[in-house]
Amino acid sequence: MQVDYLIIGQGIAGTMLSWALHRAGKSFLVLDEAAPITSSRVAAGIINPVTGRRFVRSWMIEELLPFARTTYSEMETFLQVQVVRHLDMIRFFPNSESRDLFVTRITEDDTYLHTYPDQNHFNNFFNYHYGCGQVRPAFCVDLQLLMQAWRAAMPQHFRDHRFNPEALTVQPDGVRYEDIDAQKIIFCEGHQGEANKWFRALPFSANKGEALFIECAGLEDKHIFKQSHLLAPLAQKGLFWVGSTYQNRFADAAPTPEFRQRTEQHLRDWLKLPFTVVDHKAAIRPATVERRPFVGLHPQHPAVGIFNGLGTKGTSLAPYFAHQFAAHLVHGTPITPEADVKRFERVLTKF
Ligand SMILES: Cc1cc2nc3c(=O)[nH]c(=O)nc-3n(C[C@H](O)[C@H](O)[C@H](O)COP(=O)(O)OP(=O)(O)OC[C@H]3O[C@@H](n4cnc5c(N)ncnc54)[C@H](O)[C@@H]3O)c2cc1C
Repeated sequence: MQVDYLIIGQGIAGTMLSWALHRAGKSFLVLDEAAPITSSRVAAGIINPVTGRRFVRSWMIEELLPFARTTYSEMETFLQVQVVRHLDMIRFFPNSESRDLFVTRITEDDTYLHTYPDQNHFNNFFNYHYGCGQVRPAFCVDLQLLMQAWRAAMPQHFRDHRFNPEALTVQPDGVRYEDIDAQKIIFCEGHQGEANKWFRALPFSANKGEALFIECAGLEDKHIFKQSHLLAPLAQKGLFWVGSTYQNRFADAAPTPEFRQRTEQHLRDWLKLPFTVVDHKAAIRPATVERRPFVGLHPQHPAVGIFNGLGTKGTSLAPYFAHQFAAHLVHGTPITPEADVKRFERVLTKF
């Protein structure tokens, strides 16, 4: 079999890159080991323009957000599914300092931060003592549904298969893997990229996250709520996602009883409505030391590339950088220097 691009891994990175290459008129084959639990399958799929306790704009959000909106919308039309929910994020302030900071930030820049007109609106649902603010726009993308739909639309371009690096032959102008000849191989392996023999010198910093899936009848589903934890509506009515943790040290990828107990306790203090936990999942995010993605071709092996390091923000980063990488592959246009894997040329050529 002959294809332009062989892609290893179908998380949101492999999905978006194959989509972008397809749109550019290139052929591709994706090999994915079909693991039931992966970062993209556990994620809430939230795109939130303002993050952290200090309400700081996310990196490159002015470019990423409109690009993501357009790309997901094009995929929805092509695949005839609805994956994006247009929401806002209600931030409950933990103390008066946080509330004051939010107000100050609005006076500095009110693009995404807004006062919430009815401060008592959420009184029937939550305990909160310092008011709330609104971050807008914000989105939830059903990544699992999107990945399934893309694969179902192009079944001949996907194989359930665990890639074995020992079976790959790399030449400057192409690769051969089992029955497949490709111009290039692009690794989109998520946190498993840390062990990739061509890219293991990159500064990955894998990060574990856990989430509870709860049923809560009567809770409004037009908002993402945040007060230390995030609570986001899922596509199925009455179901919500609650998370998460950011652990750099962890024994394994399994869900822990500590997270479940702590989160249930928090929900009992925060939520005024009864809820039932229906699932508990954990996965490892492909985070990086500098919190910037790894995009581009290996400096010594031009037939080998990587699209990884999406960290905590795969939903917003993947559409933009997949498009940029595809344009680089097809037309030779540049990759944003902070994301271009070329910045690690020295370490990548040493190993
Ligand atoms: C609890 C939690 C909550 C999160 N919430 C959000 C959120 O709200 N918003 C957001 O933007 N991001 C969120 N993230 C982060 C987001 O999930 C990641 O940024 C993104 O999913 C990374 O996608 P990926 O495709 O790079 O990796 P993955 O999703 O890990 O996909 C990699 C794929 O490659 C496959 N693979 C690996 N090695 C091989 C091999 N040798 N052969 C074949 N297949 C292979 C894997 O099985 C997998 O299918 C969250 C993450 C977690 C854990």
